[in-house]
Amino acid sequence: MTSYKGYSKIDLPHRENDKETFPDIETGRTAHGKSSVRQQIILRGRRTVAEKRDGRAAAERKKSSGAAAGRKGGSGAAPEQRHNGAGEPADLAGRRALAEQVIARLKEQYPGAKCTLDYRDAWQLLVSVRLAAQCTDKRVDEVTPRLYAKFPTVAALAAAPVEEIEEIVRPCGLGPSKARDISRCMKVLHEKYNDMVPDDFDELLSLPGVGRKSANLVMGDVFGKPAIVTDTHCIRLSNLIGFVDDVREPAKVEKLLWQIIPPEEGNDLCHRLVQHGREVCIARRPQCGKCCLADLCRFGKQAVKRDAETKRRAAGKAAAAPDSAAQKNGASGAVTESGDERT
Ligand code: SF4
Repeated sequence: MTSYKGYSKIDLPHRENDKETFPDIETGRTAHGKSSVRQQIILRGRRTVAEKRDGRAAAERKKSSGAAAGRKGGSGAAPEQRHNGAGEPADLAGRRALAEQVIARLKEQYPGAKCTLDYRDAWQLLVSVRLAAQCTDKRVDEVTPRLYAKFPTVAALAAAPVEEIEEIVRPCGLGPSKARDISRCMKVLHEKYNDMVPDDFDELLSLPGVGRKSANLVMGDVFGKPAIVTDTHCIRLSNLIGFVDDVREPAKVEKLLWQIIPPEEGNDLCHRLVQHGREVCIARRPQCGKCCLADLCRFGKQAVKRDAETKRRAAGKAAAAPDSAAQKNGASGAVTESGDERT
């Protein structure tokens, strides 16, 4: 068992050396030196936004749990109080057991789940995943064939004018910044890595436009190493299922998932969560009634309870309805009889 910058107390084979190289999640620093100014600004911004959001959520939870405690006369512990001082959920064993069951079910449901971005080479995945920010994989897959036809190698793309890249990738949105990042990234690959993509997480993170999500995706899909890709589906489903409690910041979700997901399962699980999020657990209307996780998922169990309660109430109303109908009929019968009498 190895400890990894507080990320996990489980073995993380591809990160054995990362005690030296991997940046601390809170500080953005590595043992090799200070983080870049850009990294620090980004990390500070993310922390500020997340702290504000977590603060608001905590205040709301405290308010509602306080009200609940008042009603029940109990302690009404807020979710964040279920974590110990190290930021670890107190019921880690329970979450690991839950994760094991979810992994087994999703494996059965989506045996062939994989990344939906089309790529032939590692550098193409780097390009595609940059283009996929705030864009659909489908749109990216429509755009990239033209880009790779015109610039078929790292060297060609590194030498391409940014305006020409931007003209092609514009349909993916954020054209100028994506084109600039792709150009810079390809230049670094060409000049520093001999047109190859490094298989080191920290080196991947240092490439322009490559964040933790992209670096994890490349580590898992290209190099077959343990990875957890915290994209929008992974974060949403992790909260719904109960892997994490109201945590939205990708790096924090990743950190918590490393503690409960076996490293060798992480990459495939994330692909399966994406497929499940697209087909069943759809963002605005999760189909809990059709979901293979309904009896495991925290939200699903609540939804089943709510449905049962609604049905119970509806049945109660239906049972009461014949009496009132009979009363109405009785009253109308009296009128009819009296009417008959009148006639
Ligand atoms: S039970 Fe509902 S909320 Fe939970 S994963 Fe399934 S569809 Fe999503």
